[in-house]
Parts: sequence; structure tokens; C-alpha cells
Amino acid sequence: MSNIDTVINDLVIANRILAHENVVDAYGHISIRHPDKPQHFFISRSLAPDLVDREDIVELGLDGQPVREEKRVLYLERFIHAAIFEARPDVQSVVHAHAEDILPFGIAAATPLRPVVHSGSFIGAKVPVWDIADRFGDTNLLVTNMEQGRDLAKCLAANNVALMRGHGFASAARSLIEAVRMAVYLPRNARAQLAAVQLGGTIKYLSQGEIDARNRGYSPYSTETWRAWEYWASKAGCKHMLTKPSGSK
Ligand SMILES: [Zn+2]
Repeated sequence: MSNIDTVINDLVIANRILAHENVVDAYGHISIRHPDKPQHFFISRSLAPDLVDREDIVELGLDGQPVREEKRVLYLERFIHAAIFEARPDVQSVVHAHAEDILPFGIAAATPLRPVVHSGSFIGAKVPVWDIADRFGDTNLLVTNMEQGRDLAKCLAANNVALMRGHGFASAARSLIEAVRMAVYLPRNARAQLAAVQLGGTIKYLSQGEIDARNRGYSPYSTETWRAWEYWASKAGCKHMLTKPSGSK
């Protein structure tokens, strides 16, 4: 399998995992930057992630447009990915989804979403909330052009996750596996925080030192990380598609 084939194969697995872990449903998407052409990225055509296969993957430029002639319908919100890849050369993979558990934190300004459990540490100490209405007034809340995408990317800045008011989240990571992992644990962290708020009293968040310590111990291809990827892929019916990346331990 060539490097590009492996990337596309892994992107298909990532789509299926996010569907099986209830991060996405009919909507939501994940992308990966082209390994050899940083000005391009791969994403599915407009399709529910659970149904995505290799031939559904399209190659887009950082303007959100296909690099080859494409007659199939593309995701309306592909500009989220294009604008984040454009603004963040360090980012290799982007997720956009509407996971229900995170939605309250994009609406209730008084309680910011923050890491409260160890697996939620990767969302980072600060999770900004982007409100499309601030700059674009009354819209259908979807990010349908580069201008809106760039405004969202600006709000995300150097953070890992931005919530989108009344809509969902956009997250950015250094690898595909990391992007999937963060997208899986983000709603779980939100759920734990919501439950804790209901119990009342002071909420104990992860400290910056704890977040840093978790980050230092993380490697996208370590045995521990691979364990989760292998588990999620198997659960999503993709065990036969797994290819361990070279250089992995
Ligand atoms: Zn959306």
C-alpha cells in the first residue's frame, strides 16, 4: 500500500470510528492533510461518515475546492477544514461534529468547557466559543464559505478545540489518531463536567501542570495510543483495514 493509500485507508477507518463512537451521525466530518502536498487535504464527499469508503475520499485545496474535476456533492461545511489547515501549518487533521454533550457549553456562557477528566486533557486548558452571529448576523449557522471558516479558525487560534455556538465543535490535531481520540473524549469530558455541575459545589478542573504532564507523555503511535485505535477500529468493523504505520512502536 502506498503512503497515500494508507492515509486514505486510515481516513476511512477514522470516519467509521467517529460514527460508531457517536461523535458524528449523518452529519459531521474528519479530514487529513495530504502528506506530500501540505496545500491539499483529504475528506469524504457529502456522505454520512459510517458509509464512507475509499472511493468517497476527495482531495481539496486550502480554498475548500476540489483539485480535480468533481461532479459529486461535497460537504457544505468543508471550509471549516480548509481554513484551519490554512491557518495552522502544525495541524494534520480536523474534525467537525455536532456531538450533543458539548452543545450546552456553547450556549451557556457562564460555564466554560474545560478538562475535568484525564482523557479530556487533550482538549487543552482553553476551549473558545465561536459565535457565527458576531460577524455574520443571522445565518443558518453553517460554515459555508472561506470567510466564515477563517473567522472560526481565528477564534480557534492555537487551541485544540473551538465550540461553535448552537451548532457543534471544530477540533484540530497533530495526527489523525490524535484527532479521533480527542473527538471521542471531548463529549465524554463534557458529560462528566455537566454531571459534576449538577452535583453542585466547586468543580475541580485539571490543572495546567496536569494537562502539560498528559501532553508530555503522549505519542500518536505509542502502544497505548495504538491500543485505542485498534479497539475503536475493531468495534467499528474495520479490524481488517488496520495498517500499523511505519516508525510505530
Ligand atoms: Zn456543522
